[in-house]
Amino acid sequence: MKKLPRILVVEDEPAIAELIAVNLRHNGFAPTVVYDGAAARREIDAVLPDVILLDWMLPGESGAALARQWRKQERTKTVPILMLTARSDESDKVQGLDAGADDYITKPFSTQELLARIRAVLRRRAPEIVSDSVQVGDLALDAATYRVTFRDQELKLGPTEFKLLHYLMKHPERVHTRGTLLDKIWGDHVFIEERTVDVHVKRLRESLGDASPMVETVRGAGYRITARQSVNQGNSDAAA
Ligand code: CA
Repeated sequence: MKKLPRILVVEDEPAIAELIAVNLRHNGFAPTVVYDGAAARREIDAVLPDVILLDWMLPGESGAALARQWRKQERTKTVPILMLTARSDESDKVQGLDAGADDYITKPFSTQELLARIRAVLRRRAPEIVSDSVQVGDLALDAATYRVTFRDQELKLGPTEFKLLHYLMKHPERVHTRGTLLDKIWGDHVFIEERTVDVHVKRLRESLGDASPMVETVRGAGYRITARQSVNQGNSDAAA
């Protein structure tokens, strides 16, 4: 399985740090959270991250001081640093970039913006590790190359089924109502009956073959994709 990009989150506000970590985890990254520079150094000594998300205002050493040190050191000098600044103050940004940060993002920021910036710095510094791929159980989807595989066998999907699967896989183990799926896949400006979702889920299951039990119908609620089902399926195949 592909290695997830490691993101070291250096942020002293636990609520913000946790929110960032949850969002990163849901989007195919492996975050580690630390609350100050000393802990960040210990973490970097142990495991070199692929990206450092660095808060500007930290207890003890500032984010800028840490960035300056990491840029000087052999081990860390090429690791992308994305600075988190609380104010949209121009001088903070300039100082952050001067200190060696690759980019900065101003709080409050949306998850989509954060992910876009992380992907951008990775693309610049380490293009080989960014991709828009998601994995649930043995099912893998790569949005960049438009490929879906199950146990390394490629599957053919229509464009709507691909979008539907992509959305479900980005939010696995959660139940999505037909209304939500319509909004997310077709857009809320389009008038389509909820039954349309059922039609495309049926087509999706047909395209998924052995992986089809992963797409579960939750009676009276909607649909979800689950990794657990594929494990059960694998076992019953082996028994048969
Ligand atoms: Ca802070």
